Amino acid sequence: MSFLVKCPNCGERDAYEFRFGGEYHKRPSPAAPDNEWVDYVFNRTNMNGLQKEWCYHREGCGKWFVAERDTTSNIVKATYWTGDLNQ
Ligand SMILES: [Zn+2]
Repeated sequence: MSFLVKCPNCGERDAYEFRFGGEYHKRPSPAAPDNEWVDYVFNRTNMNGLQKEWCYHREGCGKWFVAERDTTSNIVKATYWTGDLNQ
C-alpha cells in the first residue's frame, strides 16, 4: 500500500513526490522581540499527535502547503494552503 498525500493543487499523489519542510509555526511580526524570533527559528514542539507541517510538492506543481499529520500513525489528515489556516 502506498502512502498518499493530497496536494491542494494536484490531488492525491505518492508521498515520495513531496518534501517535508518542518513544523509549521506562525511567523512573528518584523517588530516582534528577539525571544519570539529565536523561538520561531530554533525551537520545535516535536508533538506526539496531530502536527501542522510544511510540505513541498517537489515533483509536481512546486508549491508549498500545510499538512496536518498524526506523528503517531504517520497518517496525513488534511492539507491546505497557508491562507486557509485558522490561526
Ligand atoms: Zn501539487
